[in-house]
Amino acid sequence: MGNNLKIIIQPDLTTTFDQWGFMLRVENGQLVNVEGLGGITQPEDCVPILHPDDHNVRWREFLWMHYTAVLLTLTEAVKTELVFQTCGGERRIRVAELTQQSTPIQTGDDGRLNIALYTPCTQGRTNITPEKVVAGGRESFTIQYVIGETGIVTGGGIYIFTPYSSWSSPDFDEHTVKLTRADGLPHNVVIETNLIPHSHSVFGFFYMIRVRTGSLQAGDVISIHYGAREGICVQTYPKDRVYFTVLVDTCASGIYYPLPYENTPYVKVCRGTPNRLRIVAPMVGRPGDMFVVRGLVLDGNYNPSNQGINNPIHLKIKLLRPISDQNVIELKTFTDNDGRFTFEHVQIAQAGYFALTVQSSGLTSASLVVKSGDSEKAGLYWGSLHGHSEMSDGEFGPEEYYRYGRDDGLVDFCSLTDHDWELFEHYRNRVKGGFSYIQQLAEKYNVPGHFVTFSAYEWMGINKVGHINVYYNNKRTDNPMYVGEVAILERTDADTPEKLVDIYKNRDDVLLIPHTSHGTTWPVYDSELMRLVEIYSCWGCSENHLSGASGARAGLEKGFEMGFIGGADSHHGSPGHTGKPSKYHCLPEREGFAVVYADDFTRNDIFKAMQARRCYATTGERILLEFSIGSYAMGQSVTVEPSRKLTVRGVSGGTKPMTRIELIRDGKSVAEGRVDALMGFLDETILPLPGKHYYYLRATQQDGERAWSSPIWLSV
Ligand SMILES: [Zn+2]
Ligand SMILES: [Zn+2]
Repeated sequence: MGNNLKIIIQPDLTTTFDQWGFMLRVENGQLVNVEGLGGITQPEDCVPILHPDDHNVRWREFLWMHYTAVLLTLTEAVKTELVFQTCGGERRIRVAELTQQSTPIQTGDDGRLNIALYTPCTQGRTNITPEKVVAGGRESFTIQYVIGETGIVTGGGIYIFTPYSSWSSPDFDEHTVKLTRADGLPHNVVIETNLIPHSHSVFGFFYMIRVRTGSLQAGDVISIHYGAREGICVQTYPKDRVYFTVLVDTCASGIYYPLPYENTPYVKVCRGTPNRLRIVAPMVGRPGDMFVVRGLVLDGNYNPSNQGINNPIHLKIKLLRPISDQNVIELKTFTDNDGRFTFEHVQIAQAGYFALTVQSSGLTSASLVVKSGDSEKAGLYWGSLHGHSEMSDGEFGPEEYYRYGRDDGLVDFCSLTDHDWELFEHYRNRVKGGFSYIQQLAEKYNVPGHFVTFSAYEWMGINKVGHINVYYNNKRTDNPMYVGEVAILERTDADTPEKLVDIYKNRDDVLLIPHTSHGTTWPVYDSELMRLVEIYSCWGCSENHLSGASGARAGLEKGFEMGFIGGADSHHGSPGHTGKPSKYHCLPEREGFAVVYADDFTRNDIFKAMQARRCYATTGERILLEFSIGSYAMGQSVTVEPSRKLTVRGVSGGTKPMTRIELIRDGKSVAEGRVDALMGFLDETILPLPGKHYYYLRATQQDGERAWSSPIWLSV
């Protein structure tokens, strides 16, 4: 490939994001490869993002979401031209005329692309102190860039990106950036320094250092005191390498080249010390059933501490209903070296509601309300159905995602919903096989009775329609994925939700679950496919409105019969974490749970239960919820006699004292039950109203955590 040319394209990182979309066509030449450089989400990720056969490249925000620059490889041909189509018109550039100096292209009012021949940056060295910090701690750092052999001339400079995620925003003043000359002589150099928000608001900030007069020499040191004034709040979850991407322009070419990933500074974020406990147990069962209570020690931010504790763990099982002072079971165990513990062969002999509490000295205890009932047939299963890995814009790999859900989050069922456009086979993950790889992993991790998974992806709809998660209930690893309108290439399989619904029409093994994070206008509904809506995720609660737009209720008011689940939309690879560790500042809430009453602990039973809407949502706490009207269970839609009274029954069992249990009818709270410590009870008699109406239960704990039952629809 000796005749290939490499060309770098970089947006002007100090201008607005919206103006960067463009379409590129190569004429009289062959586009061999397109590669991302200086990855923002995964800096180590400099990988092919385009198949050699695709000549037309449509670049939109995706590109700059992942990379600071893009590298084109072309066959060298004297006549080759790059044709850029932008909102500012069409611009042609002859490749033969490109040099290492940037040729700028206006892409709109403000946007500018810089194009030049590529020379990788090998200049300079970096270091950062401290190199190790604790998740959720507060620290100040010194980042240094030691200028390389060629120096940096007037007009050149350095950009250093700070991590975003749950890191706090950096501060900046005249002392933040310091220049130390290698020869110790007084300055004859003037540098301009600034802290600039990334044009895409979720990606935090970068420090800009530009040489205004004079030049920097080899060995000169630029030091940045990151968080010197008040310290920086470190992200709340551990990661071995959190990078500070560095871009350098040594010769005032107008292009900022990323330092190679081996030379990019990073810090290790460690787990905190043991602080709290997590437990799980079957929450619905029959008297005499033998069961296991499992748990682990967490740090203050809900991360597994991965270290054992010396003190014993005590389990107390106390009868809450029927009221009695007796019947306290006490058991004791110890953690293993990883901070995990198990109570085997636990048994509750009588029927009733019980509080299971685990305690250990010095740690915050954890509790659950469980039900032991003679007629209980279904089990209650806890799932995390919506999350992202590094296959899209999440952190950590897809296998780490599943292992976290199974071993740390202790969820019963789990699915990974990476975005369609990032999973697209021709894109950055094509080496791993994109969506077919995701499906192979779903098969690998699905073990009925222990951990259930579903193949899934997130269809990214256009604005105001909302994203839709697509779940498959089958064992295939070749289920198709239909790419939405934000696809990076010309390919679009389903640019509207109507088309997506149309594609899956009459499929009994598919669920489409809108996640409503950006609000939705509910343009389409299919009673077979759209059985559920995500009412809560780390975007917040969409029961009424979210992000200033319509949420779940607007759909119900249109007559759509959708049950409720909670989702996570986590981007830090930790289903079941339920803390607030989001990768993005725009996702400030906890992760929710999807909770399902299923006959058996298998993929098919859990899927069928979701189709039947026998499920509910919580904001991340394991709250027990029961809801029925007459003989009808949550999720049912039935026709009833107009004059026959029906009994509404609701029960909630919290992880903290309950403060409210309400019956909602057509969006309004119409009855409130009574609460007693960890429990809430609602008993009402209603006379069905003419027409069709939906009823659901909402339970709220003292700490604000909530649960929503799927509705029951009564038609007269
Ligand atoms: Zn989404
Ligand atoms: Zn998502």
